[in-house]
Amino acid sequence: MAKIFQATHVGKVRYNNEDSLTVIEPETFVVADGMGGASAGEVASQMLVETVKNSLSKTPRPWHEKILAQAILLANDKILNTARRHAEYHGMGTTATILSLDGERAYFAHVGDSRLYLLRNNIFKQITEDHSYVETLVRRGELTAEEAKIHPMKNVLTQAVGAIANLYIDQANFPVERGDIFLLCTDGLTNMIDDELIFKILKTAKEPAAELIEAALDAGGKDNVSVIVVGVD
Ligand code: CA
Repeated sequence: MAKIFQATHVGKVRYNNEDSLTVIEPETFVVADGMGGASAGEVASQMLVETVKNSLSKTPRPWHEKILAQAILLANDKILNTARRHAEYHGMGTTATILSLDGERAYFAHVGDSRLYLLRNNIFKQITEDHSYVETLVRRGELTAEEAKIHPMKNVLTQAVGAIANLYIDQANFPVERGDIFLLCTDGLTNMIDDELIFKILKTAKEPAAELIEAALDAGGKDNVSVIVVGVD
């Protein structure tokens, strides 16, 4: 069995927490970072998490990446329809990063700028690519990774669940190894602390989720922050 740690915090600046996260037994993990005025962001990320949970619970395992992506598409329809019916929810959306383990392989599906990382053999690596405007510029070679971190448009997403009809969902799978540590997180973590500190905490902390949140708060806590850490035995 994997060791699982999860935590979320509103941060030091915002009044509400628009992040949602959940652990679906067995060994499936979801983080979502909602956006939209008033309480719309919370509604979008909660709808994502609940729809994914319901959809997967009705589907036989293993939950391959295509099944995870189908669940995201279902949430996309639901959020779009809700936004169409209620003016106050117009324009809401959410990121979605889902990881499912079946003992041998890791499956993931992803939209937005929440992230999945893997720590394996002392190498800490981002698995997902951000669906953001600045990431597009970095890939085109028009911006360096360092410039992207402080770019004024760094929060602009190129797509979000519930915000567009034709969603493109990144999805893949790869073999799991003993000792792998997975991290799912919202950008409230990665905008506040760098990879080096995350790596150090994952390597040494007894309660890695709580310590990652604490580090993000110590660094300013400018955004909601959510993390799920999964250690594979
Ligand atoms: Ca955020």
